[in-house]
Order: sequence, then C-alpha cells, then structure tokens
Amino acid sequence: MATLFWLQTGACGGDSLSILGADSPSLETLIAVQGVELLWHPSLSHAPARRFDELVSRIESGEQALDILCVEGSIVTAPRGTGLYDSHHGRAKMAIARALAERAGAVVAMGTCAAFGGVHAAPPNPGDCVGLQFLRTDPGGLLGADWRSRRGLPVVNVAGCPAHPHAMTQTLAWLATGLPLPLDELNRPEPFFNTLVHQGCTRNEYHEYDVEETELGGRGCLFFNLGCQGPMTSAICNTDLWNGRSSKTRAGVPCFGCTSPDFPREEDLFRTEKIGSVPVRLPLGVERARYMAYKNLARAAAPERLRKKKMET
Ligand code: SF4
Repeated sequence: MATLFWLQTGACGGDSLSILGADSPSLETLIAVQGVELLWHPSLSHAPARRFDELVSRIESGEQALDILCVEGSIVTAPRGTGLYDSHHGRAKMAIARALAERAGAVVAMGTCAAFGGVHAAPPNPGDCVGLQFLRTDPGGLLGADWRSRRGLPVVNVAGCPAHPHAMTQTLAWLATGLPLPLDELNRPEPFFNTLVHQGCTRNEYHEYDVEETELGGRGCLFFNLGCQGPMTSAICNTDLWNGRSSKTRAGVPCFGCTSPDFPREEDLFRTEKIGSVPVRLPLGVERARYMAYKNLARAAAPERLRKKKMET
C-alpha cells in the first residue's frame, strides 16, 4: 500500500478536475486495485477539515508514513518571503509543503503551477510565486535545485495546465510500484513528455505543405499565424486524446505550450510572433535558414486537394 497526500496550494483546482477524467488507470482503480491509499485530497476526502491538521502533524512527527506527496498549485511566498498570502490556520502553505516534502518518499508536482510556477508566477508575479523546484526555467524554486526526496528523487514534474489525466495517474501508478521512473531534463516523467503535441495532430499535412490558417475555425495549420506551440511542446495531447476524444488542436485551438516551464508566454496566445515573415520560435531542433528554404518549397508543392479542403471550411 502506498500512501498519498494531495496538498493544494495556489491553484484553480484544474488538475484535480482533470484527474477525475482519467480511465487508464482511473483514480478509483489506483485506489481499489493498485494499492494507493488516499490519505487526503481537498475535494475528495469526506473527513472533517481537522483530519487535515491531524494528518499533517502525524506525517511531520513520523507517526504516519507518506509515500507520495502530490502538490497542486504554485507556491506563494509573498509577503516578504513569509508565504502568508496562502495559509492554513495561520501557517503558510509554503511551510506545510516543505515539511511534508521532507517526509515523502516521492514528491509530485501536479500541473505547471506546482512544477514551474505557471500562471501565478508570470510577470509581474505579485504573489512571489515559485514552483517546487523551479521558477519558470530556472532551477531552484521552494526546495532548491539539489533537493531530493527520501527515495532520492527530485520533484517529479507532471506539467500541464491542467496536467493530462493519464500522465498523472500513470505516474502515480509507476511511483506506487516502486519502479524507477525515467525523467527528462526538466524532471518530467519521460514516457509522457517524449513526444510533441505536433505528433498526431490532424493538421499535420497542412503544416507540411504550409497551408496555414489566418482565422480561427478553419482546417489548416495554426502554426504560422495563430500561435500554435505544438511543434515545440512536449506532451501527449495528440497521442493520448483528452477524454479519449479530442485535443486543443483537434478542436481548432492552438496549443499554448502549457507543459513548458515558460508558460504562459508573455506574447499573445493566439498570434505567432514573427521577425519579418518568419516565426520567432521554430519547431524544436529546426535551423532557421533551412526551415525557410523548406517552407518555400513546400508551399509551392502544396497539393490542390489540401488548398481546396481548407477553403471548404
Ligand atoms: S496546428 Fe499546431 S500541432 Fe497541429 S500541425 Fe499545426 S503546428 Fe502542428
């Protein structure tokens, strides 16, 4: 049995809502079949609120073992480093998160806010928010870059705004079994961040031939004009569809890059920043000069059926 405590800090609750949509495995399966004991969840636990205080003090004293700590939300450190803008019974959540992390076998940042600071840490960041082990792209955060859990792991960053339901439950299942979990350079569990949103997008052929949309609602690619971050964003959104059905780009909305540490970008989310006619950010690993040569050729080679199909929308 692996014990799990879910702490909510500066959050909208989106990751809690997202995990309820998981079915492979579902949260219920994790608990009923895969041996996860949910000690506390702010929305799902039906025990009175004092149970939260009892559990925190028992975990801190070592009476209650804690295998997995999930933190949802950015860590508020204002005012002046006290964290009291986000507190529970007069104690800063920041302090509770730190104390529980010291006792946990593994710590999981559920969502981009807990991982990197997310929306709350975007400039001007009035709450002085940080992630557990990062502040946006910079290692550090609440716990410091060198911090490790009792199992010797850095904070496992299940990034996303919200995090993908299966990235959350499968990471928890993996940690509950005690098997080693490979992480990428941002400490995200590699199996869920080793593919790009671009891979599996139904607009790929349009991207390939540079058949681009200028207005939302069409069938073409959203990269060149409408701000799509799919070719630069590591996530499984188009290979493991949300609710088994859809994704942002399938619904005609550009990918906002929400699993990246610099999310949200300062630019307009629905517009591609360009230098001249060339996007500032190019698909991951692509050289600018080669990309433009390829795009010009691809545009010229675009088949009529694609241009026509786009016009039909
Ligand atoms: S819409 Fe975005 S994810 Fe889809 S093909 Fe275009 S750039 Fe790639």
